[in-house]
Amino acid sequence: MLDHRLDSTILKTRDSYVSKLKEMGVKTLADLLTYFPRAYRDEQEFTRINEMRTDEVNVVRGKIKSILNVPTRAGGVVTRAVVSDETGELPVMWFNQRHLKQLFFKGSEIILTGKLKFERGRVMMMSPKYEKPSGVLLHTGRIVPVYPESEEITSKWLREKIFHLLPYAKFFDEVLPSWVLEGEGLLPYSEAIYHAHFAKDEEFLKRARERLAFDELFMLQFMALRRKKSWQEGFSGEKKQISPELDMAPFYSALPFELTGAQKRTIAEIFEDLKRDFPMLRLVQGDVGSGKTAVAAAGIFAMVKSGYQCALMAPTEILARQHYKNLTELLSRFGFNVQLMTGSMTAGEHANVATQLATGTCDLVIGTHSLIQEGISFPRLGLVVIDEQHRFGVKQRAKLKAQGFPHLLNLSATPIPRTMALTIYGDQDLSILDELPPGRTPIVTRLVPEHKRRDAELWVSDQVAKGRQVFIVCPLIEESEALQVKAATLEYERLSKEVFPEHRLALLHGKMKADDKATVMQAFSQGTIDILVSTSVIEVGIDVPNASIMMIEGADRFGLAQLHQFRGRVGRGAHQSYCFLFTDSGSDEALRRLKYMVEFNSGFDLAEKDLELRGPGEIYGVKQSGIPDLRMASFGDKALLDRVRASAQRLVSEDPTLTRTPALAQKIAKLEAQMEVVDAA
Ligand code: ADP
Ligand code: MG
Repeated sequence: MLDHRLDSTILKTRDSYVSKLKEMGVKTLADLLTYFPRAYRDEQEFTRINEMRTDEVNVVRGKIKSILNVPTRAGGVVTRAVVSDETGELPVMWFNQRHLKQLFFKGSEIILTGKLKFERGRVMMMSPKYEKPSGVLLHTGRIVPVYPESEEITSKWLREKIFHLLPYAKFFDEVLPSWVLEGEGLLPYSEAIYHAHFAKDEEFLKRARERLAFDELFMLQFMALRRKKSWQEGFSGEKKQISPELDMAPFYSALPFELTGAQKRTIAEIFEDLKRDFPMLRLVQGDVGSGKTAVAAAGIFAMVKSGYQCALMAPTEILARQHYKNLTELLSRFGFNVQLMTGSMTAGEHANVATQLATGTCDLVIGTHSLIQEGISFPRLGLVVIDEQHRFGVKQRAKLKAQGFPHLLNLSATPIPRTMALTIYGDQDLSILDELPPGRTPIVTRLVPEHKRRDAELWVSDQVAKGRQVFIVCPLIEESEALQVKAATLEYERLSKEVFPEHRLALLHGKMKADDKATVMQAFSQGTIDILVSTSVIEVGIDVPNASIMMIEGADRFGLAQLHQFRGRVGRGAHQSYCFLFTDSGSDEALRRLKYMVEFNSGFDLAEKDLELRGPGEIYGVKQSGIPDLRMASFGDKALLDRVRASAQRLVSEDPTLTRTPALAQKIAKLEAQMEVVDAA
């Protein structure tokens, strides 16, 4: 019933609206009924005409005293009306809404919503919203839902369609077990849906939102806790612990720097885990440059010294090579056998490393995320480090467990607020590197107005002449990757010919072959390319210390988290680094967001701001980060999260497969599939 596809018959509308809805992801009856408002306007009370205020929106209910259309000199039409209630009269004016005269007559009832204006010494309403009060009021005179809109699909349209189909809400199955509903005093699901759209009063609205918010956090938390349970399941009990005789001093003195306080604290947390009953599952979050590699290296050193093998997996081959170079340099002095294993190696080289792993002579292998899937066996795998992948899918984890339950350490350069991390990554213990090594010069970030673009380009050109290198990120085009590639290609040609003809430019995008990408990246690393023009898919974490300028076009299209990631590509070398943001958006919100980039250098600060400013889903985007969209809940709602956590914990232990709540099982399976897709990407 609820998975009935929306069509023009059921919606009583034109096909074009059906396809617009589809574009917004609203395809079925259930989708429409769970397309929740983004805000509400409290217009339950009508204002009497003699009590209207000039500084706020007034909702007035009255009768038409007179109405007429007056042609204007410009060829349009002005509709002038007078509306009265028992306390007075109100003149009203609309522009080019000729049809109003057919809708309202002398004596018709009307509800108006709008602000007052002074016109020639008289108070009047200019272009107010209007509704004919017949039957149920939808657009005013109640708690009015305001929906996320697109150009064609307005809130007014949605209100009518949703109201008309709302009786179907009773067909939604209850999602939560009844002990949760009772224990938490929550509204039943179908009632919550009803009141989320057309709440009877504030109390019901509050309870509807509480219920739906509870569900959102509950599902995420349940998934996380179930992943944790499944990680611990089947553990043989063979603890892979660091040896009591372990001496870390040689490692610390081999480091060319003093560890930061945050690094020391994180290493201590990891070592605590390495002594526990269950294998470690820990996520280290830290800004780009916070020194996650050294932390991982400490864990690797400890495990190898205690007689185990380790693996480190990076998201790309380039990054794997980078880690290989750095870690060989650091660890080979201790006699460690460090090997690289990548897709571009010959079968012979591959087999050679595999043999060294199988015989236990290789202490540390470094590769890409596919390393664990290659069917390699590690007789003594003690620790796996996964760089830059927020969650490692359940299936991949199962593969790891098959290698004898190694400890697992995830490194992430996308800092998110703690409450959010608890909700989404609640299966992992969390360490936070909130301190950058000393002596870094902060990156200077500027929002460049269009009229200063030329100045900025000349300045950049001058910097290139002085030997610096530059990244230019082209705008994100959501609709299709092909379009994005095309736009970047055009931009690259324009920049090469018109803006920087005297410099060496190259283009990088996701549709290029892996070899070509690697060639370009290598040339950029070696300095034979000055300016790298790329789509938003530039390799994460790439290290080119001589690159000191990051220019981002269409910056308003990216979330703060991603802008911050881009910015992290510079500021790695000795030179003062700069990040220039360009935008043609005039929206206050967009500019405010970009000003945060100018103001804040820490990813954690930006993540908090992001959370305050907009819905989390919009910021991070499921596609980019695997962080799902929340529509009712807020990741910052600590109190609700605590309640959710307790119930989710109980459900995970009592009915982990959700056999008693099939509707919940179905919803969670869907959400997990979505997030798995992100994992695999
Ligand atoms: P990320 O957290 O982005 O992975 P890296 O581990 O790559 O950061 O470290 C970035 C740079 O900072 C590296 O060149 C590394 O050698 C250096 N570094 C790491 N820790 C410190 C420290 N405590 N003091 C000085 N430099 C450090
Ligand atoms: Mg790193």
